[in-house]
Amino acid sequence: MKVLVTGGAGYIGSHTALSLLEAGHDVVVLDNLCNASKEALRRVEEIAGRTLSFIEGDIRDRACLDQLFKEHDIHAVIHFASLKAVGESVAQPLAYYDTNVAGTVTLCKAMQQAGVFRLVFSSSATVYGPDAPVPYQESMPRGRTSNPYGTSKSMVEQTLEDLVQSDGRWSVVLLRYFNPIGAHPTGRLGEDPQGIPNNLLPYIAQVAVGRRSTLTVFGNDYATADGTCVRDYLHVMDLAEGHVSALDRLTVLGAQAYNLGTGQGLSVLQMVEAFERISERPIPYQFAPRREGDLAAFWADPSKAEKELGWKARRSLDEMVADTWRWQRRNPHGYRTEINTTSQGAS
Ligand code: NAD
Ligand code: UDP
Repeated sequence: MKVLVTGGAGYIGSHTALSLLEAGHDVVVLDNLCNASKEALRRVEEIAGRTLSFIEGDIRDRACLDQLFKEHDIHAVIHFASLKAVGESVAQPLAYYDTNVAGTVTLCKAMQQAGVFRLVFSSSATVYGPDAPVPYQESMPRGRTSNPYGTSKSMVEQTLEDLVQSDGRWSVVLLRYFNPIGAHPTGRLGEDPQGIPNNLLPYIAQVAVGRRSTLTVFGNDYATADGTCVRDYLHVMDLAEGHVSALDRLTVLGAQAYNLGTGQGLSVLQMVEAFERISERPIPYQFAPRREGDLAAFWADPSKAEKELGWKARRSLDEMVADTWRWQRRNPHGYRTEINTTSQGAS
């Protein structure tokens, strides 16, 4: 089928575009490149040995969307395009609601007009809020959110649920991601954060490669085994494959939510230890006070996705870390540089 992937040049979108091409689907990417590089898509095509269509445009641009749906016979949409930095969302809430919420509304209006009613949406474990017991299950209600980014995900989930209620032609899958990490095993695609990384793994990887001197670990006084926060890290290729599985579920009308995680929680210090072991480099770290808004520990109950989507995270922690490290070593400055390490015996 022909799939529109909004935000398809970004971290998760580019890996998903590759999985879609490899599964035999045709891919149209719409991305305004505000947090991505066209180089990622060039590499996707190279790895897949197939081409995709790329439209540089904004999900908030209705005319652009109408033209896209006129030119392409789109069967389903996977909607990644969004702003995603929690701290920035506190400083710039209007930008976040404009892109994440209003942008999704514009996309849905264009879909409706074009007669496309199948949508997979990138949601987040953050919608469960601080009071949900672990492991998180889809039957739990959405909780309080603590920043505009999280609120925007919750608002879009609600909007889409209201939409399917109002019009029985829609089929929507809400995928609640836990903590995606890792990179394509070739080391050619990966996460390329601009500026100082907010997320743990890209930060650790930049310390290992020498771009940053020390990791700051936010909080060592949580009620967890080693005092640091616990998260459910999953491989981005597993996550990408979850989207391919979700497409098959779009025959069921209505809105359904699925957790995409491994079901296993790991602490910050366990991640540091794994990275040191795999990279054979020290990761100097220092403890600092807790980061505002962080929860002590959460992980997924992924059994619904296994039962209904036939999807399960398959890749191990060591694969996640080894693939992150390979990407970081080969591309120390992201898509701007690539070092061909194959002749040096890199794995
Ligand atoms: P990313 O920033 O790498 O990808 C988002 C893409 O959307 C980028 O390529 C960006 O250029 C594009 N984009 C942003 N605004 C746009 C607009 N107005 N029009 C068109 N394109 C636009 O982020 P990611 O990590 O790949 O995340 C993808 C999705 O998954 C996002 O919706 C994010 O909120 C969600 N998510 C991510 C995580 C995570 O840890 N990475 C966790 C949960 C949910
Ligand atoms: N973290 C950290 N130092 C960093 C970045 C993150 O100690 O430089 C911790 C953070 O406090 C959280 C965990 O690592 O406990 C995962 O953070 P990340 O931002 O990657 O994911 P999220 O907060 O979305 O779960």
